[in-house]
Amino acid sequence: METFKMRIGAEWREAALGEWIATENPYTGEKWARIPRGGEADAIAAVEAAHAAGQGEWRSLTATQRGRLMYKFAQLIREKGQRLADLEVTDVGRRRKEALGVVDHLAGYYEYYAGLADKLEGAVTPFDKPGFLHYTVHEPMGVVVCIVPWNGPLLLASMKIAPALAAGCTVVVKPSEYASASIIHLAELAEEAGFPPGVFNVVTGYGNEIGNTLTAHPLVRKVAFTGGHVGGRAVAQSAAHGFKHLTLELGGKSPNIVFDDADLDAALEGVSMAIFNTSGQACLAGSRLLVQRSIADEFVARLADLMRDAKLGDPTDLATDIGPIAMRPQFNTVLEHLAAAKKDGAKAVLGGGRGLPAGGENGLFVEPTIFMNVTNDMRIAREEVFGPVLVAIPFDTDDEAVAIANDSSFGLAAGLWTSSLQRALDIPRRLEAGTVWVNTYRTVSVMAPFGGFKDSGIGRENGQDAIKDYVETKSIVIRP
Ligand code: NAD
Repeated sequence: METFKMRIGAEWREAALGEWIATENPYTGEKWARIPRGGEADAIAAVEAAHAAGQGEWRSLTATQRGRLMYKFAQLIREKGQRLADLEVTDVGRRRKEALGVVDHLAGYYEYYAGLADKLEGAVTPFDKPGFLHYTVHEPMGVVVCIVPWNGPLLLASMKIAPALAAGCTVVVKPSEYASASIIHLAELAEEAGFPPGVFNVVTGYGNEIGNTLTAHPLVRKVAFTGGHVGGRAVAQSAAHGFKHLTLELGGKSPNIVFDDADLDAALEGVSMAIFNTSGQACLAGSRLLVQRSIADEFVARLADLMRDAKLGDPTDLATDIGPIAMRPQFNTVLEHLAAAKKDGAKAVLGGGRGLPAGGENGLFVEPTIFMNVTNDMRIAREEVFGPVLVAIPFDTDDEAVAIANDSSFGLAAGLWTSSLQRALDIPRRLEAGTVWVNTYRTVSVMAPFGGFKDSGIGRENGQDAIKDYVETKSIVIRP
């Protein structure tokens, strides 16, 4: 069993109380590693280390020097990314093919924000009193707590860490109790890159045990959270109480709309990738297929045919199409959703149960599933399943498609497939979603702001503006 430790200041530490959390490989069912079960004392120590670093050497670096360190970090991620990828494969069952792509993407995050570090310009502005000089400067907020879920630990953490470091903040990263290993290794690479101790801390443990200590700590100035609505609400309450800056990236139930004028071959590929990649464990998964009635039966039948031969199995095998669900509680949740949907009258035209691939009988597999006979008011169409489960709902007109798409408490993403320029221009403006893809899906980029409408969150990550979410703007007025 591998042992991972927390990174607090200059030290690699076990939990102060000496307790551990065992983590399970979702493919083999083996307990493969242990991580410290951090407690209150560890959380406080991490925040204090981050604060001290922010007041020390880190503060004295120029923005260009910070950027250089980040470039070096990115280079190390590229050179040594194999281990990062392997850790995500073992820890959360991410397919190796995907994990290798993530590493490249990850390095790109640090490069992008490294380039922005010394481009945070203030302004000298006119002032409505004669002779006064007014200008603005941007200063790092201070300690940022980055809270990360289990489904994409490295990338979701880096969406926060990269702009925070570029802005001159220090971070305390709290990975999911189910997926800490890869982030701990990222902290090892940060140490190797030469970030001063305390700039990049990782504290592990259960969210309900240490989360509040982190988010309520008076030295913390910002909380950047990605996760579910229960944790999100707790974090928002705690942050509100302490008047802290907050970014929330929450769940989704994203519509993927196929019009009858679409390139149907492309739409088939896009719709299947939108939901079945990462076994549906993505906040942006296209989990509601809205398909124009004239083509609905044929389209769903072709989609089911396409997925029928999908190879479930070993995530380390590059030929695997569908990996396991990342952890046991989520596996049980997905199976509960499948049972409830059938009870509510949904009809599985593909899958609908546990997957048992040869050699992977101990793994947490769910068959790729497509439900028909679904209306948008059914639980399976309203709640986030976070598994390889698609509901297909027919529609007749554009207005009806938009109405069904928007009839959701979520608003993270949406897709549409059409050859009509008019629709490509018109429909995205009418959809309540932070990202709308036309004739593509899941094409995320560090350069494109990402976040949700409605219950899908508050604020945006990615893009140039994200760095501004980690600075305070100060107005300086000088009377000569
Ligand atoms: P979760 O909310 O259970 O956990 C997320 C993180 O929050 C974990 O590190 C957990 O320990 C911590 N946490 C839990 N309770 C806390 C508390 N009271 N205070 C502080 N921290 C707390 O979510 P999860 O099950 O790990 O992840 C799945 C969810 O994440 C899904 O709903 C998914 O849609 C969402 N997600 C959203 C995005 C996005 O960008 N919008 C991306 C990926 C995942």
